[in-house]
Formats: sequence, C-alpha cells, structure tokens
Amino acid sequence: MTDLKSQTLTELQKEMEQLGEKKFRAKQLYSWMHEKLVDDFDQMTNLPKGLLTRLKENYTLTRLVPLEVQVSKQDGTAKFLFQLPDGNVIESVLMRYHHGNSVCISSQVGCRMGCRFCASTLGGLTRGLTPSEMLEQIYQIQKWSEERVHNVVVMGTGEPLDNYETLLRFIELLSTEGGLHISQRNITVSTCGIVPKIKELAKENLQITLALSLHAPTQEKRKSLMPIASRYELSEVIEACCYYFNKTKRRITFEYSLVGGINDTREDAKELIRLLKPLNCHVNLIPVNPIKERDYVESKHQTVINFKNYLEKSGIHVTIRRELGRDIDGACGQLRKSYMDREEER
Ligand code: SAH
Repeated sequence: MTDLKSQTLTELQKEMEQLGEKKFRAKQLYSWMHEKLVDDFDQMTNLPKGLLTRLKENYTLTRLVPLEVQVSKQDGTAKFLFQLPDGNVIESVLMRYHHGNSVCISSQVGCRMGCRFCASTLGGLTRGLTPSEMLEQIYQIQKWSEERVHNVVVMGTGEPLDNYETLLRFIELLSTEGGLHISQRNITVSTCGIVPKIKELAKENLQITLALSLHAPTQEKRKSLMPIASRYELSEVIEACCYYFNKTKRRITFEYSLVGGINDTREDAKELIRLLKPLNCHVNLIPVNPIKERDYVESKHQTVINFKNYLEKSGIHVTIRRELGRDIDGACGQLRKSYMDREEER
C-alpha cells in the first residue's frame, strides 16, 4: 500500500495517468488531502466511484489520532500527543501569537543527537517520521483549533536534517499551491548543526528560515552540551551557516538556550559577540526549560536581560523567546516522555 498523502502533486499526476484517469483528478485528490484536510476516501465526493475503489485498494490515507491535548491556562498554548499508525507517539505544539498561529512539529520519533538539556533524546531514536506524518500534525491542529496555521517550525522532537529526504518532501507538500500553501518564508527548520546537510540544504533553492542550535560560544563549551559538536567543530558549523546565507540570502537564526552558570556569563556574551558579529544573523535566547533527568537550571531573569542587552549594544539582533506553556509539559519532548513513563508504570 502506498502512502498517498506523502506523494507530491507531480507524482499524483503520474499515478492518475497510469490508472487511465484524467490529469486534473490529481489536483482534486491533492486538494481533498492537503487543502480540505479530509482523511476518508468516501468524503471525496467529486471523484468517480471506480477511481475511489481503486484508491482504497492500493493506497492508505495516513491519519494521526490525538491521544491527549493539554491547554495552557496562561496563554492558550496547546500541546498535543498524537498516535501514529504504527502505535508510536509524538508531540506537537500550537502557539498563539498576535501575528498568527504557529505550530511546532516533530520530525522523528525520539532523537539520537543526545543534547544534554533535552528531554526528546533520553530514549534514543525509534525512527524518522514520514512526510505525511509530519504534515498530519499541522492538519490535525488546524482542524482542532478551527483556525488557520500561519507558521510552522520544525523544532519539536527529532533532528530534521537526520531525516533529510522526508524533510524536503514535507516542505514541498506544505508550500505547494492547492494544499495548505504555507509560504516557505513562514517555515523554520531547526538543526543541531549537521554540516554536510546544511550545505546540501543551501543548494535546494528554498526560502525557508534555518535556525541553528548554537547554545555555546566556544567549541569546548558546545561539546559539553551537545555531542554533535564532537563530529563538527564550531568553526565548520559557522562556515556552513555563512555558506547557507550566501547561497540563499536568508538570514540565519541562532538559538541559544541559556543555562544558569554554564553559558550565561558576561564572558560568554563577549565570546558570542566575537563569533557572530561578522554574520548577518538573528539570535534567539531561550531560557532553558529544566528537565528532571538533568541538573541544569535556568538563568536568573536579570542575567537573561543583561545577556540580551550586551548583545544588542554590539549591534546584534536579539530576541528572548517568550516562554509559552510553562504550566503544561512545555519543553521539547516532555509530554511524550511523561506519557511513556506513565505507560511504563501501568
Ligand atoms: N534537533 C533540532 C530541532 C529540535 S530541538 C535542533 O537541535 O535544533 C529545538 C530547540 O530546542 C533546539 O534549539 C534545542 O536545543 C532546544 N531545546 C531542547 N530542549 C530544551 C530545553 N529543555 N530548554 C531549552 N531549549 C531546549
């Protein structure tokens, strides 16, 4: 059985031809799946009966099932636990901003990158998601909220560049006219810094925003927080980012999670300025969200403000990420982790 929601429009057109159908049927089918968001062949009322029968025999329509939804009383952020067709569970988040709704999606079941402060990686990697499983997180959330999704950030569980071909297909399906048609400029992909893949991505001719998880201003410090830094030196990562910017002319966002006493001193800020000053970039400071399995603590509020001001004074664009949904299992991978812990106790 072929996963129909993971097929591009061009592929669907070929499939239709092979089935002896008119080419325009592909557009109709695409619209049912990716614009009207139905997940049942019987709802596709303008397709001929014969075609529907053959579709049912040969194709599946991937659908995610919401198992839990936690809604923050503070800010309306909603965190979803979805079940995949094979029984695995993943999580996604809906964030409501005044400029529109943003959805944060997972790209893998678990993660093998091992970042020290992150809950998503504690159980290792199970598998990469399929394109339709990535899309379905957005589709289900749009249907649940009955509001249009404006922005998509691939910043949930998993390393998107470790699921590269799927990521590319996902971006195509999400931004194609006739589907949700989300502008690539409203799609952000966050990576821990897989250098060869960043360079490959630079050549794909995309308009997406690349976010790089930096978290430390020096190679030594970065290595202590992120095992991937042992594979790719900080200097190589920065060089890859410059390459990406030069090729795409899209400004890179550097994510920097502030960990109390570890990477939040004035000296760290100074080093960071030295590193990033020559680049055309944006820094997003994230007060670390402590997880119980590690003893990292948040930076003090004043420390975060000082760090920001220091960068700003040197002319670097910087924002502090609003901490949404702290009253629910807000941090990356925490809802899935707490669900799996609960399942184990049963
Ligand atoms: N693998 C990708 C995307 C997923 S993580 C990446 O590394 O970028 C999304 C962002 O959240 C990354 O910057 C990650 O380092 C950060 N993050 C993960 N756990 C966190 C936590 N507990 N507190 C703050 N930031 C965290």
